[in-house]
This record gives sequence, structure tokens and C-alpha cells, in this order.
Amino acid sequence: MPASSAFPRACVIGHPVAHSRSPLIHGHWLSTLGLKGAYGREDVSADDLAGFLRTLRERGYVGANVTIPHKEAAYGLVDVATDRARAVEAVNTLYYEEGRLVGDNTDGFGFLANLEAGQPGWSRGAATALVLGAGGAARGVVAALRGAGISRVLVANRTRDRAEALAALSGRGVGAIGWDALDDAMGQADILVNTTSLGMAGHPPLELSLAALKPGALVTDIVYVPLVTGLLQQAAERGHPTVDGLGMLLHQAVPGFERWFGVRPQVTPGLRRLVESDLPGS
Ligand code: NAP
Repeated sequence: MPASSAFPRACVIGHPVAHSRSPLIHGHWLSTLGLKGAYGREDVSADDLAGFLRTLRERGYVGANVTIPHKEAAYGLVDVATDRARAVEAVNTLYYEEGRLVGDNTDGFGFLANLEAGQPGWSRGAATALVLGAGGAARGVVAALRGAGISRVLVANRTRDRAEALAALSGRGVGAIGWDALDDAMGQADILVNTTSLGMAGHPPLELSLAALKPGALVTDIVYVPLVTGLLQQAAERGHPTVDGLGMLLHQAVPGFERWFGVRPQVTPGLRRLVESDLPGS
């Protein structure tokens, strides 16, 4: 922190970044915890990212979140990456340690914390997960599922090559399957996760019948606009337990806040209501 700054400051870096709800989340924690600190937004283009991160500290920041489209590029620009950032080759949280810029990835942590909060004990007895999508978010989800003890993760993606690449990056226990093999995979899955942007407001729907899904399988969607996606609605109608994606967004913010401001914050019903009321259509 420069001598001129009396309290820690952090920000979210993205392009565009106006849509980011991180300032709402961190601002809520700062005010409810009564801490001196600030959290802002920085719209930084791809061309300016390297220069911005090199001068992050001189700009008065103790750290930052990184969002779309910079998560992968920022990974290549930090001095040190944590194990969980290396596992997915992307960062969403930056902080300094012994003068070096550290890149962490808390998306997988947020994903698991959300499942644990929504369906406590969800992984007990679960062996197989089916993940739809192989984009940036899928990387964190797959690594988190393996880390939570799920022995087999099947990845299905529109573009098969990306599913193969994700399986290769993830290593043992993770395999790619074709979209045409979904029914068979659903029959084996203890947990089904949508990480595609299908079903998100403004995107095409996820057209998938859950008729073949194993009875009692947990269904979760990381899309959180709308909060109850078509997938979650269908799953609930069929009697499956469900977890929506908003909690992932809230929980992924916890480790960064603790690093920058020195207190581990809680994801409370009040925070959830606040962010929910800021979602389109609420
Ligand atoms: P991404 O890297 O762009 O990946 C998008 C994924 O969706 C790819 O697998 C892509 O398949 C698939 N897809 C897109 N359009 C499709 C279509 N018409 N038909 C079939 N598949 C299609 O995006 P991302 O960063 O992983 O984010 C994915 C979603 O997760 C977004 O809705 C984002 O808002 C949400 N998200 C939520 C959280 C949270 O905290 N809850 C965190 C991160 C992301 P191809 O490879 O074939 O293109």
C-alpha cells in the first residue's frame, strides 16, 4: 500500500466491467463489518492489462479480482500462481506476498462452498459427475469436483475438441464424451453441472431432457441469471435436489476479501438478498 493510502483498496479488473457485482459484495462486507477499506472497478483493455498489473501497487491497490475476459491472460502475468490457479491456468484473485504478485483462483472453492451450503453432505457416496461445457468456468468446476473426491468426471461439450483438451489438462479421472452420449452418462451421474452459458438470459435455452438422469442425482447450474434456470426447474419438477449458481459468485469472493481486508467474511442471507435484488428481472 502506498504511504498516501490510509486504508486498503482493491478492485475488479475486467472489460467491460460495469456489470460486475463484486463491488456490491465487497462493499456490503466492508460496511457490515465496519472496516476501513474500498473496493472499485477498473475497465482495462486486453492491450493495457500487462501494464496495469505491473503497476497495480503503485495505483494504490493491495490486490484485485480479475474477471472476463482477462482470467487466462492474467495467469501469464503474475509472479506466482497458487496450486489451484495452476490447475486451471487462470486467475480471478490477485494479492501481494513478500512483494510478489500472487494469482489465485477461487472459482472452484466458490463452487464447492455453494454446494455444501445448498446441499450439505452432497458428495457423500457420489462417484460420478457429468459436467456440461468446457469453457473457462468448467475448468475450475472439474478441478473442484476431483478435489472433493468425485472419482470420475465426464465432460460433454458442443465442441468436442475443447472437452478433450479439458480432460487432458485435468488428468486422471476426467474424460470427454460426445453430446450424443449424454443419456447414457446421465444414467450414471450422481451430480449434473451446467457450466455452459445456455439457459442464461439473452442466450439460447439448454435443451436437455432429464428423463435419463439417475434418480436422486443433484443438479446444479452455475448460470445465475435467471436464478432458477430451465434446467433447475425441470430438475425440481422431477424431484431432484438442486443448487442455483448465485452462491458460487458470493463464496468465490470470500478468500480475496480476507487477504485484502484481514477478516474472513460470511455469505449471509442478507448478502444474498442484496445481490439477488440487483439481478435483472428481480
Ligand atoms: P466460456 O468460456 O465462454 O464457455 C462457454 C461454454 O458454453 C462453452 O462450453 C461453450 O461451448 C458453451 N456454449 C456456448 N454457447 C453454446 C451453444 N449455443 N450451444 C452449446 N454450447 C454452447 O464461458 P465461461 O466463462 O465458462 O462461463 C459460462 C457460464 O458460467 C456463463 O453463463 C457465466 O455467466 C457463468 N459463470 C458463473 C459463475 C458463478 O459464479 N456462478 C462463475 C463463472 C461463470 P463451445 O466450447 O462449443 O463454444
